[in-house]
Amino acid sequence: MPKPRTNIQRLKAYAPGEQPRPGGRPVVKLNTNECPEPPSPKAVAALTQVQAEALRVYPPPLADGFRQAAAQLHGVEPGQVIATNGGDELLRLVITAYCTPGSRGGIGVTTPSYSLYPVLAAIHDTPVHAVDRGEQFELPGDLAQRWNDAGCQVAMLVNPHAPTGLLAGVEVLRDIAEAFDGLLLIDEAYADFATTNALTLVRDGVDNVLLLRSMSKGYGLAGLRFGYGLGPASVIQALDKARDSYNTDIVSQRVAAAALADQGYARGVWQRVVAERTALTEALRGRGFQVIDSQSNFVLCTPPQQVPAAGADKPDARTLYARLKERGILVRYFDQPRLDDKLRITVGTPQQNNALLEALDELM
Ligand SMILES: *Cc1c(COP(=O)(O)O)cnc(C)c1O
Repeated sequence: MPKPRTNIQRLKAYAPGEQPRPGGRPVVKLNTNECPEPPSPKAVAALTQVQAEALRVYPPPLADGFRQAAAQLHGVEPGQVIATNGGDELLRLVITAYCTPGSRGGIGVTTPSYSLYPVLAAIHDTPVHAVDRGEQFELPGDLAQRWNDAGCQVAMLVNPHAPTGLLAGVEVLRDIAEAFDGLLLIDEAYADFATTNALTLVRDGVDNVLLLRSMSKGYGLAGLRFGYGLGPASVIQALDKARDSYNTDIVSQRVAAAALADQGYARGVWQRVVAERTALTEALRGRGFQVIDSQSNFVLCTPPQQVPAAGADKPDARTLYARLKERGILVRYFDQPRLDDKLRITVGTPQQNNALLEALDELM
């Protein structure tokens, strides 16, 4: 029997948040940070307008229409944009193009963080150098130095941070980029819900910063699989060489371009999510939870059981997760250090959030 490479044999595959069975009982799905509202009607119209002829021929390899729309929106050149099959593909391309397999280099990350980063590194047989975040999940002051000491060729920093929702300011990021010897990928999958982003670093021509953007969270298109990178033209060219010849299909290119162009609709969605995030944060705090102020579309909270002097007799995070699930409410529980006393809850519609709060009231 053929044997996969040793690193693949050893690999523990990425564990996505659970997806309900199609046709199963309805659930309140607050576990994978999808958008609570549907995509723009203009994006849906673009989908229904795809003709057979557009399917017969290969799509534009560089997703020119989308690239133009993204460049215009963000005030950069089309050559500074790469379209990818979800933001996740961009992560893989960066590792493929910049990390030498089997060498000491590898990727720098902070812990805790997006659990896909180490999986992609392991697939590429490149090491991960993880630097612990501080007591309040803040970025360590010597982060870039520590990545340099480890010889990291790439670093991946999610901002707003997942799973806390904390936002690092753009000047902090600029300092990290300046001090870091490799390529800094700033994962802005959740930037749509934050007060600031790092776009100015790309516009200023910082030569080692690449931004990741996703259509999955802010545009309600997780099922489409579309994301993009923004960075220096030289970096984009290197990634371009490493991608599949037709990495995004014609349907997703058109739908994503239409969604991106409809900024009025998207902004309305983001405003409502942010308002609900504030309401959910306050409602949870009112029930004795500790909640980190989030700049994203989820909140990380500690149930009262683990909050000193709040509720030793109440169910802990793991129990709450399981009991909510029994009631058809899915939230995310991470069985790992620093997170195993917490729940990550996606901000849903007002109805979904109320269903969650009512269930919590019954359980506690
Ligand atoms: C959702 C997400 C992405 C990108 O997801 P795609 O659906 O592949 O666009 C990237 N990083 C983080 C931290 C995410 O949560």
